[in-house]
Formats: sequence, C-alpha cells, structure tokens
Amino acid sequence: MAGRFIEVEHLGKVYEAAAPGTPAALQGVSLGIDQGEFVAVMGPSGSGKSTFMNVVGLLDSPTSGAYRLNGKDVSGLTTDELAHVRNRVFGFVFQGFNLLKRISAAENVALPMVYSGAPGAERRRRSLELLAKVGLAPYADAMPNRLSGGQQQRVAIARALANHPQLILADEPTGNLDTQTSMEIMDFFTALNRETGVTILLVTHENDIAQYAGRLIRFKDGHVVHDGPVAHEKAAE
Ligand code: ADP
Repeated sequence: MAGRFIEVEHLGKVYEAAAPGTPAALQGVSLGIDQGEFVAVMGPSGSGKSTFMNVVGLLDSPTSGAYRLNGKDVSGLTTDELAHVRNRVFGFVFQGFNLLKRISAAENVALPMVYSGAPGAERRRRSLELLAKVGLAPYADAMPNRLSGGQQQRVAIARALANHPQLILADEPTGNLDTQTSMEIMDFFTALNRETGVTILLVTHENDIAQYAGRLIRFKDGHVVHDGPVAHEKAAE
C-alpha cells in the first residue's frame, strides 16, 4: 500500500546544546499529512513548532522516531538527495522574506532554478511568469528594498514555487505584515492550495491566520495536543 505524503512516527528531538533537565523539543510526535492538505501549526513559544518544521523540511534531523516522505524513510537519504528534496520537492517561505538584497526580484525568484540547473532563458521566463502570478509583473527588475513588505513576501512565495514544489513550508509568513496585507497573502495561499493542490504547512501565532487552513495541529511542550479540522468562525456549530 502506498504511504501517505508525509508520515512521522514517534518523532523525538533532543538538542545537544539544551541545558540538562530541559524537556525534549519533540516528544513522540506521530501524524500524517496527505497531498493537497492545508495545515496550520500553532502553539506557544517553545512548544516545538519550529523544530517540527525543520525536521519536516529536512533542515534538521530528529533524534528518534521515523519520517517517511512519499513512503520513503528519509534517514536513508544522502546529503545530495536531501538537498535535492529541499530544492525540488519543498518550497520555503519565512517571516523575514529572506530575499537577497543585491539582486532583482526576478533574479531572487530564479535562484532555486540556478541550483536545479535550468538554462538562463528558461529561468527568466519562469521568473516573470511567477511574478505575474503573484501580481508583481511590473516589479521584475526592482531591487527588494524598493518593494513593500507584502511585495517582498510575494517575491519570496514566487521563489518558493519556482521548482513546482509538492510542499510549501511557511514559518510565520505574515508575522511582519499588517492585517490587510496578511489577508492578501493568505488569500493567495488558499487559492494556490485549491487550484494547484500544493500541500501547505504553515506556522502561525494568530487564530485569524489559522482560519485559512483546513486542518489545525497544536503543539505544547513537544507534544501534539490537538489535531483536527479548523473550526471556521462562520461555520455553524
Ligand atoms: P517554537 O517554534 O514552538 O517556539 P522550538 O521548536 O523553537 O519551539 O523550541 C522547542 C524547544 O527546543 C524549546 O525549549 C527551545 O528552547 C528548544 N530549542 C530550539 N532550538 C534549539 C537549539 N538550536 N538548541 C537548543 N535548544 C533549542
């Protein structure tokens, strides 16, 4: 039987640098995520959200438990295979946008395609296509510091989409944005999820932002304390 898209089992993480007696950052997390889901991850500061995202994003490895991606145990992947998955299967969006300041919006969007070896003309073509998709066609040759925060985050989203990822990992993507801009970004994620079926895993502190997701996973002290459909505020009880 084919496995789920993402499946973690009894995932544990103890940081080597942690002070003695500190509880483990992840303590036996088991869950699955299917292709096409839009999942919000919430929980207080220090509850393990970032650790979980880093493990799922293959930016860090767990100290115990199993992680299967498309049915394959990732602990068997080589460094090159891990880099390949991070570049081709995942797209990352961060709170601080993380754009390179000295290159244009289009060049930022093209970066993942440089690493994946696409020819220059193709990179340019796709960058422009992606910037148009996020509503920034006129800003292709603008430097990031000429763009507003919301525009910079749109560039970062276009960059995350460059290699047709199966999963978008977004860590507080609206954390630095005002309410109106946050709503626009979340509407974009929602449409993207519905139209392309890309899976989205999004960390947020805000209930209003989690409302856009279909499923909510809540962490506390390294445990999952809630996992279920988002209770939409307008839905009948
Ligand atoms: P959250 O994202 O929910 O704020 P984290 O995953 O960052 O939670 O942290 C979970 C726990 O792991 C906390 O106790 C935190 O102090 C600890 N922690 C996180 N990163 C590190 C690290 N690099 N070294 C040591 N301890 C860490």
